[in-house]
Amino acid sequence: MDKQNPKYSALIDAIPDTVLILDGSRRVTAANSAARHQLGADIAGRDLSRVVRHPQVLEAVRRVLAGDPVPVLTISSPVPVRRDFEVHIAPLDCGEEAAKVLLIQRDVTDLRGAEMMRADFVANVSHELRSPLSSLVGFIETLQGPAHDDPAARERFLAIMAEEAQRMARLIDDLLSLSKVEASEHIPPGDDVDLKALLQRVIGTLSVRAEEKRMRLELDIGELEPRVAGDVDQLTEVFHNLTDNAIKYGRDGTPVRITVAAADRVPDVGGAGMAVTVRDESEGIAAEHLPRLTERFYRIDKGRSRSMGGTGLGLAIVKHIVNRHRGRLVIDSEVGQGSAFIVYLPMGR
Ligand code: ADP
Repeated sequence: MDKQNPKYSALIDAIPDTVLILDGSRRVTAANSAARHQLGADIAGRDLSRVVRHPQVLEAVRRVLAGDPVPVLTISSPVPVRRDFEVHIAPLDCGEEAAKVLLIQRDVTDLRGAEMMRADFVANVSHELRSPLSSLVGFIETLQGPAHDDPAARERFLAIMAEEAQRMARLIDDLLSLSKVEASEHIPPGDDVDLKALLQRVIGTLSVRAEEKRMRLELDIGELEPRVAGDVDQLTEVFHNLTDNAIKYGRDGTPVRITVAAADRVPDVGGAGMAVTVRDESEGIAAEHLPRLTERFYRIDKGRSRSMGGTGLGLAIVKHIVNRHRGRLVIDSEVGQGSAFIVYLPMGR
């Protein structure tokens, strides 16, 4: 049929979904380019059962030809990689024998993936908030009952309650920060940022925490006066999170080194830039974890992260901020030696 009607054929070719036109005996009489690409170049003229092997789809076409309405179908194709499709099947009433049924197959794999990610995220957030909340409720009941007249227990429980409340506050702060960063991700940042001053401020803020673990925070910037186009607050958050992690996961008494160097090329993005490396001496990170570290709530050792006040969102925030800056985060680690988190930022204007 597409030979007979080139205008019609051009029209369906412009549709990005898979489109098939069938005659009254389920024979494919026209297929758009997406269908030919996905189902085979020579599908025109074939019976539908030789093109689409889903019994659900074949049954639905039979019902449409018999005059029954059918709902939108959802089917999956497991090979070579699993993909999910929505299939719309409708009768055509254009008076042509060759065009009795329209079948549109839409790939909804990415949409389904995003829906699942959103559902997982909500489940994770609820779980992360519920554990400190349950603990708070438990201690409140104990203070109202058995520990009511026990001053020593009261002090101890109140200290734990304060810690749990702070954990919830940290999580909420990180969630808000993440959603703000996501909302601004498509807007390029506009401040002219003095990286040296920014890193010195970050080191100042974290020096007390470092001293508690007898760690030194070292800044090596050489003769550079590095400036980048960025968002001062967001870049402060990036280097605060990375340095805070280096202190958290670094061994007691070891240094945390922050170095700034010019980079000829920002990886994947291209163009000259600055590379800021935050390096620690720690147990390091096994290679299988590296690709997942920037996922929300991904933690190598949940108990350890929690006991150190982690929320599991720090690196996700870092990644989104670096993306907004059209930069790259590269993580390099050697088990038993330590890790380097390298932030590449494009050069300032
Ligand atoms: P958290 O709040 O748990 O530190 P992050 O998103 O900052 O969350 O980091 C995710 C996970 O990556 C951490 O739980 C930890 O397992 C690992 N990680 C991050 N930074 C380091 C580091 N410098 N050394 C070793 N592991 C690290």
